[in-house]
Amino acid sequence: MVTIHDPWFTVEEIDSTTYAISEYGHWEKVHSFLLLGKEKAALIDTGLGIDNMKRITDQLTDLPIVVITTHVHADHIGSHGEYETILVHEAEEDWLVNGIKGLTVDQIRKEMCRDITGQTPEGFDPEKYTPYTGKPTGLLSDGDLIDLGDRLLTIFHTPGHSPGHICVLDNNREYLFTGDLFYLDTPIYAFYPTTDPVELLNSLERISYLQVARIFGAHNTLGIDPSVLFEVQEAVYELRRRDVVRHGTGIHTFKSFSVRF
Ligand SMILES: [Zn+2]
Ligand SMILES: [Zn+2]
Repeated sequence: MVTIHDPWFTVEEIDSTTYAISEYGHWEKVHSFLLLGKEKAALIDTGLGIDNMKRITDQLTDLPIVVITTHVHADHIGSHGEYETILVHEAEEDWLVNGIKGLTVDQIRKEMCRDITGQTPEGFDPEKYTPYTGKPTGLLSDGDLIDLGDRLLTIFHTPGHSPGHICVLDNNREYLFTGDLFYLDTPIYAFYPTTDPVELLNSLERISYLQVARIFGAHNTLGIDPSVLFEVQEAVYELRRRDVVRHGTGIHTFKSFSVRF
């Protein structure tokens, strides 16, 4: 059992080769995930960028790390600059390199630097927070397989929350990492201009038929029982039936989760 005492990050062992690296001291309660194979490790997202995640991954593994980006929102790419190998879906390569058109650094800064209750690192200046931009070393498409050595990951292109959003299925352990496509406690966001409610539902529907043992969203509650996928199927059906699958129809609440269009 690994115990790491850190002022900013919380490390939880999901199993002996899978870790959640969480940022509970921020209102977004973001989770990134480190998966160890025999030859390589995968880091699914790199957090908020308020503190440096490499300090944590250095303590957890000596394996070369491949960063897999669920999507290019600032809260998922914060420590990308600390790693050499960065993969992103082809539909968001431009966002990674140039930022999101129409979204200013000021707007991002305001969201990222409010309601922080955790201990930020020395020298952290909310006025100077700048989202990561940089070139990926590789592009992902739907169905890609990533072999970590005795541990195979499948990439699912799941647009809606963003155009190049992906989910990652750990084939061996049947863990599904859902990024911002699916999580509990706060509404799943599909109301920005760059979101697409129709695509979001198609993506939710697609993952709801996967055979998985555990679901890990990128925010809030860590680890979700897969029985919720039946509820997802019902919600998809219900939202279509009520003809509300478009921007501006507000928050739609189901038993365990909600979506905002
Ligand atoms: Zn997002
Ligand atoms: Zn997010």
